[in-house]
Amino acid sequence: MQIDTTPNQSSYDVVIIGGAMMGASVAWFLANHPGFDGSVLVVERDPGYELSSTAHSNSCIRQQFTQPINVQVSQFGADYLRNFRQYMGGDPDVPDLHMQSFGYLYLAATAEGEQVLRAAQAMQAAEGAGTQILTSEMLAEKFPFYNLDGIRVGSHNPVDEGYFDGGSMFDWWRRKAKSAGVEFIRNEVTGISRAAGHITGVVLADGSRVGAGHVVNAAGPRAGLVAQMAGVSLPVEPRKRYTFVFEAARPLAVDLPLTVDPSGVHVRSDGKYYMAGCPPHEDPAVAPDDFIADHSLWEEKVWPAIAERIPQFDALKLMQSWVGHYAYNTLDQNAILGPHPEVGNFMLINGFSGHGLQQSPAMGRGLAEWIVSGCYETLDLSPFAYDRIAAGQPLLEQAII
Ligand SMILES: Cc1cc2nc3c(=O)[nH]c(=O)nc-3n(C[C@H](O)[C@H](O)[C@H](O)COP(=O)(O)OP(=O)(O)OC[C@H]3O[C@@H](n4cnc5c(N)ncnc54)[C@H](O)[C@@H]3O)c2cc1C
Repeated sequence: MQIDTTPNQSSYDVVIIGGAMMGASVAWFLANHPGFDGSVLVVERDPGYELSSTAHSNSCIRQQFTQPINVQVSQFGADYLRNFRQYMGGDPDVPDLHMQSFGYLYLAATAEGEQVLRAAQAMQAAEGAGTQILTSEMLAEKFPFYNLDGIRVGSHNPVDEGYFDGGSMFDWWRRKAKSAGVEFIRNEVTGISRAAGHITGVVLADGSRVGAGHVVNAAGPRAGLVAQMAGVSLPVEPRKRYTFVFEAARPLAVDLPLTVDPSGVHVRSDGKYYMAGCPPHEDPAVAPDDFIADHSLWEEKVWPAIAERIPQFDALKLMQSWVGHYAYNTLDQNAILGPHPEVGNFMLINGFSGHGLQQSPAMGRGLAEWIVSGCYETLDLSPFAYDRIAAGQPLLEQAII
């Protein structure tokens, strides 16, 4: 499909840098906010989304977080997925979104790990989540295919946790935003013009300037670079995460929960296949265009961990693998949302550290509300404000995979 590279106007009420999951979500929620009748431009350097986090996602949703606000954000995400057509205005062409609730199963092998799971379960239950702590005996009864040597407890929630069709949500946000008048162009923002405490516009790759009332940084793993253009810093960097899709010679008779093994490897059902993932041996920041794979990871780390935990998976065939980038928030592995305190019309939606796809409905809605009204009108997302970064007070999310 041909995409314009030049904007139709010389200035817009809102310019969104990055048109993947977060950019599309903000665009759609803005266009559908009853208090907004402004103009929106989305600038995307890679409209095939080949290098985006969105294209490399595992597309899972959970309520097993350690921060209550993340539970609430995912609860809205689950509600949004279930009622997608209604949220999209009741258009009969909008599909039901597929969701497969196999649940996440976090396994703890140490007293400290058990304590973290028990505290998180108590908080999640108080927030209305269906998480349960399962002792090793309960685990053995419910999931007889695991080798539970060394495992003390597991925590499992089969309600609104598992895979969801994030790709269709993304497609429909872009499609509906475009039909509501949002302009998407293929171009790169290479500079941001700033006058004292606010931004006046952006500079595109060909040197042309576009004026902006608000600028949204939805640049994923490149968010730190975009922030630098505005003269501010963000503790967000690209980090590699690996995904492996495999076939088991002896598949399980039931869905495999998204099992988070104490080794750091996670594995789940993926239709008739299985999907596993992990961080690399070392986990430094990488260049935003570095997608070079470490082929030893599957052989040395992932396969042995899976075969150890699920003895029936002794014979596996690797079908596909890829490297993606987390937009990793080095302070606390949580989102950074809302205006930058020094540059009030520079709006952040960054640092999702591997759980952004499921958070995109709540985050896009929240940022649109803030742009329109200067406050959150529905779910209060102020715990994600930049202020904590400046103050060095982490909102630490411990349940990161
Ligand atoms: C391997 C992996 C597994 C994951 N699994 C899950 C999961 O199971 N569940 C979950 O909730 N989340 C998951 N995530 C995280 C999730 O995919 C991301 O949080 C989410 O996709 C982030 O979307 P985004 O729009 O912020 O970033 P991106 O998808 O990276 O999009 C940013 C866009 O900005 C564009 N851009 C950047 N700079 C510029 C510029 N200067 N000018 C113009 N355009 C620019 C880029 O081209 C890109 O398209 C996973 C991520 C990875 C890598």
